[in-house]
Amino acid sequence: MRDLDQFPRVKLGVFPTPLYRLEAISAKYGRNIWIKRDDLCGVALGGNKVRKLEYLLAQAQTQGCDTVFTTGGAQSNHAMLTAACAARLGMRCILLLKKRGVTDHRGNLILDDIYGAQVRFLDTDSYDDIYAEMDRLGAELAAAGRRAYHIPVGGSTALGALGYVNCVRELRQQGASVGHIVSATGSGGTTAGVLLGARWYLPGVKVTGIGVDDDPFEEIVPRLADGAAALLGRAPSGTPDDFRMVYHLGQGYAIPNPEDTPYIQELARMEGILLDPVYTGKAWSGMLRLLEAGGFPGQEDILFLHTGGAAALFAMDLA
Ligand SMILES: *Cc1c(COP(=O)(O)O)cnc(C)c1O
Repeated sequence: MRDLDQFPRVKLGVFPTPLYRLEAISAKYGRNIWIKRDDLCGVALGGNKVRKLEYLLAQAQTQGCDTVFTTGGAQSNHAMLTAACAARLGMRCILLLKKRGVTDHRGNLILDDIYGAQVRFLDTDSYDDIYAEMDRLGAELAAAGRRAYHIPVGGSTALGALGYVNCVRELRQQGASVGHIVSATGSGGTTAGVLLGARWYLPGVKVTGIGVDDDPFEEIVPRLADGAAALLGRAPSGTPDDFRMVYHLGQGYAIPNPEDTPYIQELARMEGILLDPVYTGKAWSGMLRLLEAGGFPGQEDILFLHTGGAAALFAMDLA
């Protein structure tokens, strides 16, 4: 059995991130609602990928890699944060992005340039095509004596999920006393890490993932959580009711949903906090709708994990 601290981790973010009760929102909804500000984690515009990259890029360094490959949609927050973190570690970054969504020079694509990443678009709907291209490119670099570290979409591997196990440990150190943790689920690694972390560090806490894409996260999330547990040499330890997925997609991934706009405006105007229309706006609105529909019975406090994403506000309008 390995302790989390025995795992190689490179310090990239400013942690702990703030945790506090949303006073005005709690009063309005008649329930204690807390927020964990991982949008304020100190790299670029913040976001959840930084905690994952602390473990992933540590492994890249251990393996002697000088280049990092990753992928995502054109406006990927994960790709932008990988570019930012790779640059800080003196590694080159090549982003193989799907030519889908907002491909103009806006939002995260501006930031990718600032961080010095090389951006290539691939006209495909399938990440398998992109991974095949990564392999081809990796072999080309290897022939030139370089070594690339490949990060899959969202950084959602078992190793990346350790970043959110670590986040829940941080929540316990901050004295969090909540019944539920809610987060957006886009590729699954964040919710998986939160689930495993809750099982270890905040037992009894229930985890709700709000799906903003239509993958089968009921399977993906527990599988990633078990994979992360296995990395640490521990057996999976879940209970049947410690995790649920609720989908709040609207018309589809990365399409702003008109139902979310009033909730996004409300949080901005009452608490000063920005949400994005792709991830956190959907998760926040999905959570409050669930609360209003009786989906969080009892009186236990609810914690919303703010996972970042603000750059999307400069790439697309709210619906
Ligand atoms: C990637 C992302 C998520 C989803 O996290 P996953 O680990 O991919 O499920 C949520 N919010 C924002 C802002 C993101 O960029």
